[in-house]
Amino acid sequence: MSIGRLTIDLDALAENWRALDAMSAPEVQTAAVVKADAYGLGVAKAARALAAAGARRFFVAVAEEGSAVREALGPGPEIAVFSGHMPGDTDMIHDLALVPMLNSIDQMTRHFEALPGHPFGIQLDTGMNRLGMEPAEWAAVRELALGQGPRLLMSHLACADEPDHEMNRQQLDAFIEMTEGTGVPRSLAATGGILLGPEYHFDLTRPGIGLYGGLPYEDARPVAELELPVIQIRDLKAGESVGYGNTFVADRPTRVATVSGGYADGLSRHLSNHGVLFFEDTPCPILGRVSMDMIGVDVSHLQAAPPALAMLGAQQTVDDLAQAAGTIGYEVLTQLGRRYARRYARGRD
Ligand SMILES: *Cc1c(COP(=O)(O)O)cnc(C)c1O
Repeated sequence: MSIGRLTIDLDALAENWRALDAMSAPEVQTAAVVKADAYGLGVAKAARALAAAGARRFFVAVAEEGSAVREALGPGPEIAVFSGHMPGDTDMIHDLALVPMLNSIDQMTRHFEALPGHPFGIQLDTGMNRLGMEPAEWAAVRELALGQGPRLLMSHLACADEPDHEMNRQQLDAFIEMTEGTGVPRSLAATGGILLGPEYHFDLTRPGIGLYGGLPYEDARPVAELELPVIQIRDLKAGESVGYGNTFVADRPTRVATVSGGYADGLSRHLSNHGVLFFEDTPCPILGRVSMDMIGVDVSHLQAAPPALAMLGAQQTVDDLAQAAGTIGYEVLTQLGRRYARRYARGRD
């Protein structure tokens, strides 16, 4: 087999959910964000493992994503949609029993007219200026909206991964000001917000990245492991080059392994001459450009020819790889390619 092997540890995923759940008080509910195919790791398996761990509320970005989650979970658990109730979503929201987080007066009108009595939540903008009603908008419709019995009032933090950022406190104050005294359950914290402490937890937290092994949750167990098989090994003389554009030229005899996997598999071209793979605990530097399907790797220092090298695992987290590629763990995970042989380890199904 010459495709990469992506192993997804569902026990680690469940353990990360339980650990994040344990960081808030027992009366605070912990949801699970499973948008973008559970951050690229496969939403059906991930959602079931999270439900088995105890999650009862799930969030997706867009209504279309609700379908796979509903299919995986059956009728019980709540599935909420961050983008709210968009034109064309009414049938999905109804048939899949989704709970849209209404983001504007337009969405609110659409929802109340198309699906009167259907559960909804409201998203408020506390300064990120991405989604949600602004304070003035909210003030205008607040009484009307509260009269319809929203399930949740939520907002989202822009800088929660920087605990000392003044924006956190500003958004917290704005959120309290917009929601105090409503009697409706509230949610402000994603992974970063959970780590900011109890003031930020309110009634429901919404972790995503921490479940999947990424920062800012430093103690997360890694969930994704990626091994790339070595297709060929060759010995270069000093002066010979590797890959497109001759961007690596050996200055001494060098042993190069060509591994299967490239930018078509979500391994950024920014890793060219930059990132490392691992053989057991030994780092092996990338030589030359990452191409579409292959990467050259320096294995001169290994005792024997390795059958495969690890791109993600205990030695290299998604955030380590992200740093080498100039991005964030979220992007590394969600770009993981479709071509890998995916295996779900120690799963319950
Ligand atoms: C993606 C997202 C989350 C989850 O954020 P993480 O940083 O991955 O924990 C929570 N809430 C909203 C509104 C989001 O868009």
